[in-house]
Amino acid sequence: VDRQQEFVLRTLEERDIRFVRLWFTDVLGTLKSVSVAPAELESAFSEGIGFDGSAIEGFARVYESDMIAMPDPTTFQVFPFEGGATGESARMFCDILNPDGSPCWADPRHVLRRALSRAAEHGFTFYTHPEIEFFLFADLPKDGSDPTPVDDGGYFDHTTHAVARDFRRQAVTALERIGISVEFSHHEVAPGQQEIDLRYADALATADNIMTFRHVIKEVALSSNVHASFMPKPFTDQPGSGMHTHLSLFEGERNAFHDPADAMKMSKTGKAFIAGLLRHAREYTAITNQWVNSYKRLFPQPVPNRTTESPAYVCWGHANRSALVRVPAYGKPNSARVELRSLDSASNPYLAFAVLLGAGLKGIAEGYELPPGAEDDVWALSDAERRAAGYDALPGDLSEAIEVMAGSELVAEVLGEQVFDFFLKNKRAESEEYRRQVTPYERKHYLGAL
Ligand code: GLN
Ligand code: MG
Ligand code: MG
Ligand code: MG
Repeated sequence: VDRQQEFVLRTLEERDIRFVRLWFTDVLGTLKSVSVAPAELESAFSEGIGFDGSAIEGFARVYESDMIAMPDPTTFQVFPFEGGATGESARMFCDILNPDGSPCWADPRHVLRRALSRAAEHGFTFYTHPEIEFFLFADLPKDGSDPTPVDDGGYFDHTTHAVARDFRRQAVTALERIGISVEFSHHEVAPGQQEIDLRYADALATADNIMTFRHVIKEVALSSNVHASFMPKPFTDQPGSGMHTHLSLFEGERNAFHDPADAMKMSKTGKAFIAGLLRHAREYTAITNQWVNSYKRLFPQPVPNRTTESPAYVCWGHANRSALVRVPAYGKPNSARVELRSLDSASNPYLAFAVLLGAGLKGIAEGYELPPGAEDDVWALSDAERRAAGYDALPGDLSEAIEVMAGSELVAEVLGEQVFDFFLKNKRAESEEYRRQVTPYERKHYLGAL
């Protein structure tokens, strides 16, 4: 029993905790949980907990359906606000192993770990800092009708929207109590829409934090009799929920993106990283934006009726909020970073961070040249102007995104064969199922046509 494990066992005993949840994530980013009694934990630390992987999306081929969940004691956290009469509960994230003890390739946490160790071979640590947007609704109708936002507030609104304000205060308090530091929280542009920004942390911790965040936010919402939704685009005429994420590489204590001598204070490493994010953007978009609905958010917006600030074209800029990648102005050298704006709140954060890191590292390894920045509003340009400037369009829908991804050596390599194949198969099915649907839009426009 190592020190971390000992700490976990002692804490459970001292605080009389009866439930320990072991968490892991399937390939599509759904949180999975199995509870164990503290008495079982010592053996769980040495042998793991067996479960039938064939029941979990993407996990096992039939012949290796017995999988092992191995708790990671460094992620141990007591949830002081859960449990009610049964007392506090606690949770740990797990790494998933094959029956022979080797890491399971379908475990998204393993995919990210592998990408991070690649970065470590080059001396880099990868940090991420997500701005998570989501909606609060009074209800979550199951019949496809519009949900009702809890307020009619807008960007940074404060005074009149008590539900959202109280919700944010409770949510931030709950997150802080379980060790997830929040940097900002505010009302977003759409009615009922909120944003909570987490402090930067290494990418594995951030991905675990995002999984925890979604769970805690939904729980806090339910306790206030409202519902949280991470759907990328719930309304046609309101902005969607993105998860803009700030990315940086460190070499030891030093931010590898910072260069005081450069005009934009961005090092060669930083520029090549951005160039990698841009060059491979069309290939990894199926991972950063994985649902049919995700592409309704990435839709290019006609300027006068713009409902969103999400990207639709592959370019970068400083103040440009229509660009895929933004380089924020920064003060302290260690704050040098790039913001990727396509990612949405319903992605699998482990897989997303792995492919983004892979694309950036490839840019560095191959010395990609950073194309000129776009300070124009790229939505306002004509197609011809965009073509002349070299701004590719992001995939227009899930089906296009999947077919571009299917041809990507980089994404295949980062995800590994099992996740890559499962993901393509699953997403092709989703996209076909969607295509089969006859929608109210079509009946409205074509029933009386011709
Ligand atoms: N909601 C917008 C998006 O979908 C972002 C709005 C903002 O934070 N500026 O990306
Ligand atoms: Mg923000
Ligand atoms: Mg925002
Ligand atoms: Mg942002």
